[in-house]
Order: sequence, then structure tokens, then C-alpha cells
Amino acid sequence: MQTKSNPDEIQSYLTDASFIRDGYADRVVLPETIEEISEILAVANRDRIPVTVSGAGTGTVGGRVPFGGIILATDRLNRIKRIVREDNGGYGLAEAGVVLSDFQRAVDQQGLLYPPDPTERGCFLGGTVATNASGARTFKYGPTRNYVQSLKVVLASGEILDLRRGDRSALDVPLPSYHMPATRKNASGYFVAPEMDAVDLFIGSEGTLGVICEVETRLLPKPEGLLSGVVFFENEADVLALVADARAHVDARALEFFDHESLNFLREKYPEIPDKAVGAIFFEHETRAETEESVLNEWMALLDQHHAFPDSWFATNEQDQARLREFRHQLPVLMNEWFARYNQRKVSTDMSVPDEAFSGLFRLYKDTLRDSGLRYTIFGHIGDNHVHVNILPRDDSEATHAWELYLRFLKYAASVGGTLSAEHGVGKLKRDYLRLFYNDDQLREMAALKRAFDPNGILGRGNIFSEELLLEN
Ligand SMILES: Cc1cc2nc3c(=O)[nH]c(=O)nc-3n(C[C@H](O)[C@H](O)[C@H](O)COP(=O)(O)OP(=O)(O)OC[C@H]3O[C@@H](n4cnc5c(N)ncnc54)[C@H](O)[C@@H]3O)c2cc1C
Repeated sequence: MQTKSNPDEIQSYLTDASFIRDGYADRVVLPETIEEISEILAVANRDRIPVTVSGAGTGTVGGRVPFGGIILATDRLNRIKRIVREDNGGYGLAEAGVVLSDFQRAVDQQGLLYPPDPTERGCFLGGTVATNASGARTFKYGPTRNYVQSLKVVLASGEILDLRRGDRSALDVPLPSYHMPATRKNASGYFVAPEMDAVDLFIGSEGTLGVICEVETRLLPKPEGLLSGVVFFENEADVLALVADARAHVDARALEFFDHESLNFLREKYPEIPDKAVGAIFFEHETRAETEESVLNEWMALLDQHHAFPDSWFATNEQDQARLREFRHQLPVLMNEWFARYNQRKVSTDMSVPDEAFSGLFRLYKDTLRDSGLRYTIFGHIGDNHVHVNILPRDDSEATHAWELYLRFLKYAASVGGTLSAEHGVGKLKRDYLRLFYNDDQLREMAALKRAFDPNGILGRGNIFSEELLLEN
């Protein structure tokens, strides 16, 4: 097992896509087996040394940014152990440090589909489980949680758990009494539900309950064909009407939104975006040989009805589809470049709200941002009532203003039964805002659950809730 402690060598592990920059740690350990992880944790637990688990560092909320102690990096747990085809789908078994795009490619080569697809596919499989990641295809298929069949997890004590779906043995702990919000997606705090399995506690637990070492995933048959498109509009009201119509009447697997400002950013790299376009959607729809034509006709009729530009972009082969996906991917990348250039922490919303509340939230975003004098973009998973607002400060005074607006949006989302994070998690960047969505007793219940698995509070310190809460009782 390799250990790195030279400041130059560990620098890249001290941050992530949140752009929190003041993280620090004594060293990074890079275990290669579950037994090594067990030994590292047993010693750290005995000596009360904080351990921050690191995936690929693509997280946007500072979850893997350490403030002291050691970093347990999963980079070397990178073996895909099995991909098995069965009658109607199959399953895959892989270690936590496998890069998601590698896993997806291997699955694809077997004629199978692993639906979770965060826009950033350089993340690790373990990171996606730890954050219950979602993506464009979540609109049809749901989040990572729906595809986890079993997990190998090491607890803070060093104990190794091998948990399969249906296994409730590790649930003999004080479970929180709150209910999950009625949103389509949620990645804020610990999951509880009446029929949950033990694996559900660890999915989305952001490195605070245990180290996820190995993941068995459910796989689906690969769809025969796919129609995808980036469709432009001259009027934003048309985009929103199309989204409502498509949600109600079409079986799309992805439905993503770009506002005018987002298109303006993308124009730097894609000058071919039509000049008059003020909004766009990206969609994907699975087809079979016998439905190819009818699906295309269905979309053409819908787009025509809502006045889409005729010279929009469509793709039916894998190469063109990859180009459209890359177009979608470029936007968060451009946002991240902005935060890095202006040396600002990321100000990006990740709330989702119940179906009936989305139009109100969207109107609030538009009205507030239009009058703010700040640069911003609104884009993302509109099919799931979940768009990301990135507010783009150029200096600290604009950043203060941006965080005030962010707080206003959060309060609104909380008032209509929304969730703080639909997919990126709470981490350190957003933990203080969790209080808007959960009361003190509910936060204490989360802390009690954490203490049951990690009595010394060594794992993922500062993620989800503050250390003070853990020390409280
Ligand atoms: C450009 C861009 C686009 C993105 N788009 C999406 C998107 O569409 N959907 C989405 O959901 N997310 C998205 N993200 C966020 C990010 O990719 C996901 O949160 C991803 O799941 C993080 O994985 P990672 O391996 O990088 O984890 P890290 O950032 O390294 O860690 C994330 C958290 O998980 C914990 N963790 C990591 N590995 C383990 C493990 N093995 N055991 C226990 N805890 C662990 C860490 O301690 C930390 O709290 C995007 C990020 C970027 C930069």
C-alpha cells in the first residue's frame, strides 16, 4: 500500500470541484484491498485520527476535502471483477475506484446498460454511490440507488460488512424518524424509508458512515437504438411548454434545459448555435427497429407544435450522440472554469421540488437573477424539476450578493417541500443550509445514526452536518 505525504504529491487530493481551497491533511493512503482498508480504519479509530474518503474529486460540495487527519484514496481499488449477462439484463461487480466511464464502456461492450450517468463521467463508481449520483437518464431510470444490488463496506472500527439488497441486519441502529421529501430526486442527508435495506443507508452517506469498497450493480439490456437532439427555440415560453408536453406524453429518457445565458457561454465553443436561439433542450429517447420512425415523427410533431428551430441538431448514431452529450457536458465544465478563474467557491443550486412547485421556483430564479446585475446560467435536469442555477461572481462583493440570492432560493425550496440537494450532496459547502430543510431534532437524529456506525466520529468529518452536532450528546 502506497502512502504519500509530500505536500506536492498530496495537493491534488485537497480540493474538488467545489473550489474549497483551504483543505489540509497529514498524508494520503492508497489501499489496494479491502483488508488494507480495514487495517487503516482500525488504527485510525483507535488513535482518533480523522479519515476523509476520496474518490475522483469531481464532487461539487467539498465532500472529499479534508480538514486534518488522513485521506483514504480509492484510486487503486480499480478492478472491474465481473459483468454478467442474464436473460433480461445482468449485473456488474466492480471496486469503488473504477472510473464510471470505464465501467459504462465495459457494460456497453456486453450489450448492457448501466443507467446512472452523471454529466461528469470521470467520477469513480464508489463516489457515485456515496453521493447517490444522478444524471440526464435519471428522468427515466431514477438515481444510482435504484441500481445498487450489494455493497462491501468497511466501518470506522475496521469491521467489514457485506450487504445485499433485502438484507436489513445492519439496520439495528437508531433510524431517523423524518420522511423523505416528495421530490423526484434527493441527495441530502441520510435516507430512510419504511421498506429500506441496509445498503440504502450507505448510498448517499457521503463518506460519513463507512468506506464503500465494492459495488454490485443491476444492469439493463442495452436499448437497440437512440434518438437524441439539441433543439433550439426563439422564445423561452415555448421551451417550457414543450417540456411540460414531453413530460406528459412522451417516454423520453432525458430532458435537459439550457437558458439564454447558458447558450451564450456555449457559443464560445459552439459558434454554430443559431443566433436567435434564447433557449434549448437536450433530449434522448430509446427506440427499437419497429418504433424508430414513430418516435421520430412524435418528436417532430411536438417540436413543430412548440416552434422549435428547424435547423436543430439530431443524432441517431453513437458518434453523433457522443457529440451532443459533449455539448451538454461542456456547460458545467465552463462554469467550473469560471469559478477557478475568479477564485470563487462554487455558487450553484442543486435543489429540486415537487412537480407542482417547480414553475414557482423557476419564476423566482428568473425574476431574481434578471434584476441582480450578476452573471448566471440556468440549465440541467428540468424533466426532474431540477435545474442548476450557477451564479458567477467576479469578486468577493458579487460573491456575497450571490450567496444572499442562493439563500433566498433555498428558503423558497424549503417552503414548498423541496430538497437542498437533488444529486450533488451536502458535503461541507452546503451543510449549514441543511437546517432550512430539517429541524434540530431531525439533525440530531442524523448525528445519532452516524454515531451508531462511527462512535469516534472519524469518518468524513464536517460532511452533512457540523462536528459540533456530533459532540452535542
Ligand atoms: C462538470 C461536472 C458535472 C457533474 N454532473 C453531475 C451530474 O449530472 N449528476 C451528479 O449526480 N453529479 C454530477 N457532478 C458531481 C460529481 O461528479 C458526483 O457527485 C460524483 O458522484 C462524485 O464522484 P467522485 O468519485 O468524484 O467523488 P469525490 O468527489 O471524490 O467524493 C464525493 C463524496 O463521496 C465520498 N466518497 C467517495 N468515494 C467514496 C467511497 N468509496 N466510500 C465512501 N465515501 C466515498 C467522499 O468522501 C465525498 O464525500 C458533476 C461534477 C462536475 C465537475
